[in-house]
Amino acid sequence: MSITTPGDLPSKPSVYHGSCHCGTIRYSIKLTFPIVKSNDRLAKLVRVYKCNCTTCHKMAMFHCRVANPATDFILTSPSAIEEMGEYRTAEKVIGWYFCKNCGVRVFGVGGGWVQREIDGGEWGEAADEGVRKTVWATEEGPLIKRVFDGKEIEMPLHYVSVNAVTLEGVDLREWHEKGWMFYVDRRFDSKPGFRWEGPYENIVIALQD
Ligand SMILES: [Zn+2]
Repeated sequence: MSITTPGDLPSKPSVYHGSCHCGTIRYSIKLTFPIVKSNDRLAKLVRVYKCNCTTCHKMAMFHCRVANPATDFILTSPSAIEEMGEYRTAEKVIGWYFCKNCGVRVFGVGGGWVQREIDGGEWGEAADEGVRKTVWATEEGPLIKRVFDGKEIEMPLHYVSVNAVTLEGVDLREWHEKGWMFYVDRRFDSKPGFRWEGPYENIVIALQD
């Protein structure tokens, strides 16, 4: 399936705030709506999807991938990365972060953490216009090999996916009704593509096999 675009052109990115339940972890992202639907895995687009690999399935990860990890995601709390819980599995290139206090899984990051000074106004706080703040952002990590459409590509690791259920102010019903969500079947499809038509079967996963 080739790229399908909604009638309207994408608008300017808007800032959305997210957090765990107790507020220890707070972050902000920039998303552009309407979402441009594309099957191109390398396109720099916002993507919202569910994946049934054992990691995503057990973590109840509802992926919301930002278009540009370097510019579209900041962590405003806690002040030290080590204060968050972190789980790595499979190739261990992505850290899946959770709150050590309330247990909520907030996002996955692949790449490096870097401190950056930002203008609060640029991140959705009108009262903070012109106020400089130091926050965490992410940067490219080491080169990794990935296979896209049968071709192996070497590219810098840079991945940010927030758990959409920790976002405030997004309309999940709109995402569903406009067909912006897709599903990835990594359990039973040998070449998992983006499945726009609906969820895969709910299956029981036996991790011990
Ligand atoms: Zn918490």
